[in-house]
Amino acid sequence: KYHEQLVELKGNIRVLCRVKPVLKEDQQEEGQAVVVTTDPNNESALSVINKGKARAFELDKVFHPQATQEEVFQEIGPLVTSCIDGYHVCIFAYGQTGSGKTYTMEGSVENPGINQRALKHLFNEIEERKDMWSYTVNVSSVEIYNELLRDLLSKDGEKLDIKINPDGTGQLHVPGLRVTEVKGFQHIKKVLAKARRNRITFGTKMNQHSSRSHALLCITVHGTDLANGSKTTGKLNLVDLAGSERVWKSGAEGERLKEAQNINRSLLALGDVIQALRGNQTHIPFRNSRLTYLLQDSLGKGNKTAMVVQVSALESNVGETLCSLKFAQKVC
Ligand code: ADP
Ligand code: MG
Repeated sequence: KYHEQLVELKGNIRVLCRVKPVLKEDQQEEGQAVVVTTDPNNESALSVINKGKARAFELDKVFHPQATQEEVFQEIGPLVTSCIDGYHVCIFAYGQTGSGKTYTMEGSVENPGINQRALKHLFNEIEERKDMWSYTVNVSSVEIYNELLRDLLSKDGEKLDIKINPDGTGQLHVPGLRVTEVKGFQHIKKVLAKARRNRITFGTKMNQHSSRSHALLCITVHGTDLANGSKTTGKLNLVDLAGSERVWKSGAEGERLKEAQNINRSLLALGDVIQALRGNQTHIPFRNSRLTYLLQDSLGKGNKTAMVVQVSALESNVGETLCSLKFAQKVC
């Protein structure tokens, strides 16, 4: 059964696009035009009108503005299942600030996003398999801001670094990173709430800090086959990326410019890595940013990635929307 679900996945990298609904608070100017349209007859097509010209884009899947959190998760569920089977999986939300990345990943209390749904799915699946497999689930959470790592599960947000494991396997590890074993869905909800609180607390010193940092939730699933003792290790990385807007073009200076360059660099590095993987290149440039370096063992060959590109439908955002879709096409 699990195998069939895996075979259905189209390739190892899926690029999805979610169009944010136009909310009242987004309509600063009265009657601003909606320039992004989806096609009810073709779920991979999207059209953007810019300066009177329509441009067509094709992705693996496009969610129309009214798509629910559950519909979005339907596309992600099989990836979560494959992580229990020992795959390494990355799920990213990409897009300009305000386009709905955090809504898609974290969601709201009434309408939880991918993170909570993935963990619920994970524990349900583990429960279903309990006569044949025993699993432990470990969770860590880090924020990458200005190419610095911080532990979101430690009280004071310790600064961390990525090192090569001294055990000689060449694997990476993060000394001092807090790893919490979670026993079930209720427990994980508390851990997620803690990471969210910490992210907000660290952010208060810096205006809009959260839009300039990447937030990662990393789940490791160790499985033991009860019949023969064989083991699997799967990983699920859920990533709310920093805003992709091109701030460096707006005359930013000093710290702000450095921040913008770091964000730009890591998003570019991510695009380059995915493009290299899609193109079956032999050299994958993981080391160009902390983000890709940290995720190196989950992004490589044989793993699975989904990128949810978030876009605004409004005319005032059309420049960023086109940039995000170009990024999507590059990795698609
Ligand atoms: P980002 O994380 O990309 O900066 P947010 O997720 O914070 O953007 O979204 C900006 C605002 O839009 C938030 O108030 C969020 O609740 C709302 N929002 C985003 N996507 C949706 C959606 N699909 N349905 C309803 N509200 C949404
Ligand atoms: Mg956000």
